[in-house]
Amino acid sequence: EEFEPIEAARPETPVKPMTATEVKVNVSIPEAAERAAATGADGVGLLRIEHMVLSLGKTPERYIRDHGSRAYQDALIEGIRTVADEFYPRPVRTRTIDAPTDEFRELEGGDGEPTEHNPMLGWRGIRRSLDKPDVFKQELAAIARLLDMGYDNIELMLPLVNDAVDVEAAKGHLLEAGIDPERNRWGVMIETPASALMIEELAAAGIDFASFGTNDLTQYTLAVDRNNEHVASRFDELHPAVLRLIGDTIETCRELGVDTSICGQAGSKPEMVEFLVEQGVSSVSANIDAVRDVQHEVKRVEQRLLLDSVR
Ligand code: PEP
Ligand code: MG
Repeated sequence: EEFEPIEAARPETPVKPMTATEVKVNVSIPEAAERAAATGADGVGLLRIEHMVLSLGKTPERYIRDHGSRAYQDALIEGIRTVADEFYPRPVRTRTIDAPTDEFRELEGGDGEPTEHNPMLGWRGIRRSLDKPDVFKQELAAIARLLDMGYDNIELMLPLVNDAVDVEAAKGHLLEAGIDPERNRWGVMIETPASALMIEELAAAGIDFASFGTNDLTQYTLAVDRNNEHVASRFDELHPAVLRLIGDTIETCRELGVDTSICGQAGSKPEMVEFLVEQGVSSVSANIDAVRDVQHEVKRVEQRLLLDSVR
């Protein structure tokens, strides 16, 4: 008589652990949406639109001049929609454009970009968007059109904010574009020490979430260029100064009812995930290939904390 191992008779065991902390995934190109969704992630913690823009081959200004603002919106809509469709109804945190001038300079029309000694300390993220509202408005219009189409899983995230002045100014543009900040979820990235120190003021602007961009937060906290090989060994996302900024921000956000998350590379590292779950972060977002491990790490830490609490 043939012996059938009991394992074989069992239905496939669920591999995605249930966790209180949400585990999301970062998406840099729409082509990765299907693979990202297949991880079972609870949503997209960061959808970068840079690639959608850079792949047009022209700066946004040049593209809009040559093809019109509607065509620029359409290009963004196509990319964002691919991801929003794949994940619906799971939320997709879509970030407005954040490319430094040296990346725009590679494109047609890039000769109009200013020359900066320190592009990473320069004209990028929300700074550029607020100074160039004509481009920012097209991004917001694209998102407003997607919301109108019924993609109510799209959330809006603002990069490189420093303070409530930045956030209030951006909020004004949201309202003008027909995006209701009371109804649609929106938030900011915490990427500068200033933004972490100003979290109370940012929360007062009505944001729903704050997401740690640890690539930049580490660079700016430690004054270590994230792209400079000579100081690469000093680029430490787990440096106590970085962790203190993050921990304090989470604590304040919990008091104020603002969700917290991470969408920098460190969100794929077990040590960071452990620290964040201990601090009570609402969600973590990891790279596609790291999602499964992060799901299990979150589960492990949550179970340990639960056991600690009843001991
Ligand atoms: C970050 O700074 O951690 C981040 C996620 O944004 P980017 O890497 O695009 O600057
Ligand atoms: Mg960043």
